[in-house]
Amino acid sequence: MAVPILLYHHIGMPPKAGIPGRSNYVTVKKFAKQMRVLKRLGFKGLSLREAMPYIRGEKKDRVAAITFDDGFLSVYQDAMPILDELGFSATNFFVSSHMGLDNSWDNERSERNKIMTFDEMRDWAAHGHEVGGHTNDHLHLKDIPLQEAKRQIVENKQKLEEELGAPLVSFAYPFGDENEAIRKIVKAAGYHFAVTTIKSRARGNEGDYELPRHSIRRNDTILHFLAKCLLR
Ligand SMILES: [Zn+2]
Repeated sequence: MAVPILLYHHIGMPPKAGIPGRSNYVTVKKFAKQMRVLKRLGFKGLSLREAMPYIRGEKKDRVAAITFDDGFLSVYQDAMPILDELGFSATNFFVSSHMGLDNSWDNERSERNKIMTFDEMRDWAAHGHEVGGHTNDHLHLKDIPLQEAKRQIVENKQKLEEELGAPLVSFAYPFGDENEAIRKIVKAAGYHFAVTTIKSRARGNEGDYELPRHSIRRNDTILHFLAKCLLR
């Protein structure tokens, strides 16, 4: 059974029109509605590591993997209570040099939003949610020397594991930037799987380091959302 891997960034009010990245904001109200609809349809909302046996066909059930990129504080404050209430788990991919700071890697015209501290990341994990890797500095991995890409991937994993006190198994490529050499580095670093921004549900034949994701956008209606979960 195909499994949707959903991708969110910010949960909260979007910045005004014309600000880059505006489509990456989903309001709390809309997010709550999307999660409740999944629950009503009989979906289990799971972190990537918990969804993998379903993606591989080892277990069968109606499952959606829920992922967040960048570790924004809004997810901790406003999405986590909704996930917890519904008994869902999720994965957040963290940028280790920006913990407790903001998304200063983005276009200078985009809004700056707070990122969780290591304490908040540990609490996220204590609630049963997954911590995934997303590099030290959120660079375009295809645009930097391979040695530097390796450092970005390996040091991020080490730092997050040290702070968490547990191994990481899931990785997300910043900006969805990946190729064969980068996938090899991620695998050699000890990750079990990695997600891209290829728009599809996961069918289990993609390769564990090229898992597709459906990005949920600010202006998605509930029908758009359901099409991503059930059809596309
Ligand atoms: Zn990111």
